[in-house]
Amino acid sequence: MAISKKVLGFMERASWIRKMFEEGIRLKQEFGADNVFDLSLGNPVAEPPQAVKDALLAAAQDPTPGRHRYMPNAGYADVRATIAHALSEECKVALGADDIVMICGAAGGLNIVLKTLLDPGDEVIVFAPYFVEYLFYADNHGGKAVPVNTKPDFSIDFEALAAAINDRTKAVIINSPNNPTGVVYTREAMEELAAVLRRQSEQRGRPIYLIADDPYKKIVFDGEQTPNPIEVYAHSLYITSHSKDLAVPGERIGYVAVHPECADAANVMAGLIFSNRVLGFVNAPALFQRVVKEVQQVTVDVDAYRRRRDRLYAELTRIGYDVVRPGGAFYFFPKSPLADEIEFIEILTAKKVLVVPGRGFGAPGYFRLSYCFPDAVIEGALPGLEAAFQEAQN
Ligand code: PLP
Repeated sequence: MAISKKVLGFMERASWIRKMFEEGIRLKQEFGADNVFDLSLGNPVAEPPQAVKDALLAAAQDPTPGRHRYMPNAGYADVRATIAHALSEECKVALGADDIVMICGAAGGLNIVLKTLLDPGDEVIVFAPYFVEYLFYADNHGGKAVPVNTKPDFSIDFEALAAAINDRTKAVIINSPNNPTGVVYTREAMEELAAVLRRQSEQRGRPIYLIADDPYKKIVFDGEQTPNPIEVYAHSLYITSHSKDLAVPGERIGYVAVHPECADAANVMAGLIFSNRVLGFVNAPALFQRVVKEVQQVTVDVDAYRRRRDRLYAELTRIGYDVVRPGGAFYFFPKSPLADEIEFIEILTAKKVLVVPGRGFGAPGYFRLSYCFPDAVIEGALPGLEAAFQEAQN
């Protein structure tokens, strides 16, 4: 085998979503696309809002020379200033253009943040169930992701968190609204998290950074919004993207904001800009920086997601699934009716409903289903979800 054994091992570990995707293609070929209900992927079918398309056309037609040239690695200063202004109001902390770096999606943002912060062997705490890429991104930069289990309702277990922090802990990653659970962290939870990290940072005489990976930030349903970490904790780096809130994941655009008073803030910012360069992103896409500058107040139709959340929650609980009601994003993470969720997923797959096993998110015994699909796909999946549940009881 010529390729790295480590990469081979990682590919095997990360293969669940791909396996389900391939199974979906096979089933669609055999039974026809309309008869297969693939709830495995988090790729929104929503089209970007009209305002995004208008801003894109305007940006493309802008006759100003130099619109497609290299730029500072942090991105356009005027775009960063616009974002900083909006964020200052949200966080009640004065941010400027120099506190923002434009990035190639949240994935790019996580990589430049981890590259900037981590020395070999440093640990990054992630809460299980987690977005599996965290494990690989930490490893990309010589670090180690350390999973800490959440409570049964997927809220943070602060005792478990405190027990996991040690002298190698450099940062904690949070994600709210959460993929895969849909859970939204409350203000109280964020304040408690900030208090724990403040205490631990003081005790250890060095900062523990809080990294918020929040691409679903605007997709919340019940008026409850996780406060921006910059509002509650100084050593915060806030990462977001427009993949989900403007439904443009293929365009790779987002930003990182750094609390101006975080430890070593000037070096953190310089490190992020350097990392954007040397990881080969160089800068976030020029055209879409121009677009998002114009649409910071625009969001996809969140109510359409809420309707699907309500419909699915009512049906899943009626059928008998044990499931936490999500407050945002577009995922459910029910308990599998069989202890081995792979066995249950085989039953579901036979009914042509595709979901992802919880072990792909560090939580065996659960499964994730996405509802970023048209109503017809969701309605079509319900009989299979019910029949599979009943079969699992026998
Ligand atoms: N973080 C989480 C929790 C995600 O679910 C995703 C994408 O699904 C990402 C990061 C990556 O988002 P982006 O497309 O902005 O890179």
